[in-house]
Amino acid sequence: MKSLLLLLLAAASLHAADKIKVASLSTITTEIANKVGGGRVDVIGLVKPGVDPHAFEPKPSDLDQLEKARLVLATGKHMEGYLTKLRESANAKADLVQVGDKFPSLRMKAEDENRGMIEDPHWWHSVDNMERAAKIVRDELVTISPADKDYFTKNADAYLAELDGLKKWIRAKIAELPRDKRKLVTSHDAFQYFAKDHGFTIYGIEGVSTEDEPSNKRVSDIIDAIKTQRVKAVFFESIENPKVAKAITRESGAVIGGTLYADGLGEGDAATYDGMMRHNVTTIVDALK
Ligand SMILES: [Zn+2]
Repeated sequence: MKSLLLLLLAAASLHAADKIKVASLSTITTEIANKVGGGRVDVIGLVKPGVDPHAFEPKPSDLDQLEKARLVLATGKHMEGYLTKLRESANAKADLVQVGDKFPSLRMKAEDENRGMIEDPHWWHSVDNMERAAKIVRDELVTISPADKDYFTKNADAYLAELDGLKKWIRAKIAELPRDKRKLVTSHDAFQYFAKDHGFTIYGIEGVSTEDEPSNKRVSDIIDAIKTQRVKAVFFESIENPKVAKAITRESGAVIGGTLYADGLGEGDAATYDGMMRHNVTTIVDALK
């Protein structure tokens, strides 16, 4: 009896050691990997909730985790500017998947005119893209462990159903807001994919990266737009300094609409993708209607 127990324990630990090690450079891909991979993956989220992914630089301890990973997941669309450097030093056994590079991008003018048009990396604000991403991660895990195909497929299907439910909820909530009130003023330009899905016009105070600084002209253009378009509210972002947004709110006569999660998951309600999206949509619709 005792030896059987030991045998079972040994088998269990063998199985645990057998888990696919996934390193994730985005809070969004961390959730997807956990949902789809379930008990067969060990996911290390290197970019933690509340950390600015535009400014993130991997530390030596992060590089250690990347070394040990079988699969590395990143946002893609140039969010992780350090990846080229990382790739040169990374070991060959990890598959690096820049999830967002596998579906179409919205493009936007860079704040720095020398950079021309750039890809907008904030793809997860469209639930359709989340569904694409879940399938990409599923297929990647199946390639790594074909024996677990049924398990990963079942998990992915459950997650896709959850995302579908979220999509319906978002559509119904946004229907409360008349089309001519769908105008979004936020700290940095992160909500294009959301805007395209739901017919919003965006006025981003900064550019596509939180590291861009708005020019005086941009600030005064936005104040003018708020006044002429009669935009009711300006939104802050969870990991942004609201200094400029506050000044714009004051000067334009708009109100503070609340705080949005622009760059990934946060704490509390926003610790899951579903909760984060419901928070953003509720905040936007309730402030603008
Ligand atoms: Zn951003």
